[in-house]
Amino acid sequence: MKQFLDDIHGRYAAEKKALLALCSNGTGLSVADLSHELGTSIPKVTRVVNEMIQDGYLAELGKQESTTGRRPSLYGLNPDAGFFVGIDVCQHYFSLAITDFPGRVLHFTDEIPFTLVNTEESVRQMCEAIQAHLAGVNIDQARIRAYGINLTGRVNHSTGYSYSFFISEQKPIRDVFRQYLGKPVSLENDSRAMAYGEYMSSIAREEGTFLFLNVGWGLGMGMILDGKLFSGKSGFSGEIGHFPLLDNNQFCRCGKIGCLETGASGSALHRLMREKLSEGRPSLLSAAYKAGADLTMDDILDAIRREDVTAIECIEQIGSTLGKAVAGLINLFNPDMVVIGGRLSVTERYLMPPLRSAVNKYSLNLVNNDTIIRVSRLGNEAGAIGASLLSKSRLLGGRV
Ligand SMILES: [Zn+2]
Repeated sequence: MKQFLDDIHGRYAAEKKALLALCSNGTGLSVADLSHELGTSIPKVTRVVNEMIQDGYLAELGKQESTTGRRPSLYGLNPDAGFFVGIDVCQHYFSLAITDFPGRVLHFTDEIPFTLVNTEESVRQMCEAIQAHLAGVNIDQARIRAYGINLTGRVNHSTGYSYSFFISEQKPIRDVFRQYLGKPVSLENDSRAMAYGEYMSSIAREEGTFLFLNVGWGLGMGMILDGKLFSGKSGFSGEIGHFPLLDNNQFCRCGKIGCLETGASGSALHRLMREKLSEGRPSLLSAAYKAGADLTMDDILDAIRREDVTAIECIEQIGSTLGKAVAGLINLFNPDMVVIGGRLSVTERYLMPPLRSAVNKYSLNLVNNDTIIRVSRLGNEAGAIGASLLSKSRLLGGRV
């Protein structure tokens, strides 16, 4: 197969790029569909499709169902045309997903140990860790077409700058990744990429307005508004964790007081649990706490899994606070769907009932009845899968 996109030039280049973008949005399109979408004649589209099959970009995927006459062939992206790699960078590890051209997930690994810091050397080492991991997976690295990388905090995907990992004024971190990975890189905020992954993997993708809450150590939000990923003017949208909603007098890591995140996140769960343990409330974690152990969010999630009543009370309180915020979001956006994701969504059984109850209590009934609220289906895979799918859509010019 030829080099990618850059090598699509000469005769029909514009039509070929438009076809790739169309096929990236949907699968199983007939020549008549493609001709209609492109506003180009059927003989011309037929010639272009044939060339693209020869070049390895497109493949015949089957025949259209028809009750009368000949069944037209359906075309889409060739699954063998290459791979996309998505990486979700967390505090002390990253997760990695590989998808193929049609967007199927071929591989996922969680929690590959690595701590990214603010230096070019650290980015280089991370790229080596990514490549070392890929060497152990059964794919041809030469056929990777693009990488998608998620970072926490403010990310401007169009300039490639992250404001959590700011290496230099002259060089956005995306370009440093590109330099060491040797392929196009799409940089995105983690919550936005998770929203995109969940949206694109959703069975009912007609949801026009889709809000994704990333409830991890912090709290972020990704938004699909009218079918498009919303970034805001400079890519800083979705900072719902720092919405100053609470009268709890708690300092937030951003330096302000009463941010939503101080009552509805993993860090809030951690604080609430420590408060209860310090009051001497009974818990599976009491002994470890008294012995001075450093409790982690995973310890608390594990206690919830083991039905620790004190830990369950804490997560219920988080659910109730989060539900009040979701009620506000529903009133504001009238969304088709709100998805609760991130590491805390594994506590669904205890988190969701108080959340739903608060939504019913605080949202406008008429608006609330329009909205489906559910837990993420991709779970901890959402970030890496979303990054991978985004890198594909951005490379091929698909819908983002
Ligand atoms: Zn804050």
